[in-house]
Amino acid sequence: MSTPAILNELIRAGATVRRDGDKVKIKGADVIPVELLERARAERAAILAALPDTPTTTELRRRLADLCRREGLPDRLAATLIDADLVGCELLSDEGLRRWLHVLDENRRMRQGLTPPGWTQASYCRRCGPVLLWQGAPPVVLGCPWCHMRRIGGHLPRPAVTCATCAHQQRRADTSTAGMHGCAKGNALHHAHQQHVCADWAPVLSTANNSAGARP
Ligand SMILES: [Zn+2]
Repeated sequence: MSTPAILNELIRAGATVRRDGDKVKIKGADVIPVELLERARAERAAILAALPDTPTTTELRRRLADLCRREGLPDRLAATLIDADLVGCELLSDEGLRRWLHVLDENRRMRQGLTPPGWTQASYCRRCGPVLLWQGAPPVVLGCPWCHMRRIGGHLPRPAVTCATCAHQQRRADTSTAGMHGCAKGNALHHAHQQHVCADWAPVLSTANNSAGARP
């Protein structure tokens, strides 16, 4: 069997094959027939010759650590990445790696229930409710980066809202609660302009821009 043929067989079986220095890295080896892996092992030298030589993981990790220091990101952001996270990263420019690291840092903060730096704009996600997004994000979005955190039960930092601008407010007829509004969602009463946090808040007018919007 020629080397290109065995590479094609590995890829058809669901593997990702790449060269890391003088090693052949096969991702997804757990779903590949043992007989095919043994043949690949026997032809290791030929596979190495057929694959392009790329910077080693060590070199890539050094670039990532340098970028973290330069961007003021925590060192552990790069240090805790496993080799499988780095597949394909050696093809990215420093600018591409820089953007990727910032996305990783945003996700890390969001998993901890923290708002990424600069996300100070109050927007409304049709799935999450009121959320904080980056400056310039649309006021109303169909889905947002917080959607995943909400689905897995994570904490969502919320912007302050008022009942006066909420579609669920209900005016009350009795005078004992003058100045207060009822809530169609059954939430606690507030004065119309009292700022508070509410996951059920929805804008009265929702015809604003509904697109997800491009992130900077
Ligand atoms: Zn959302």
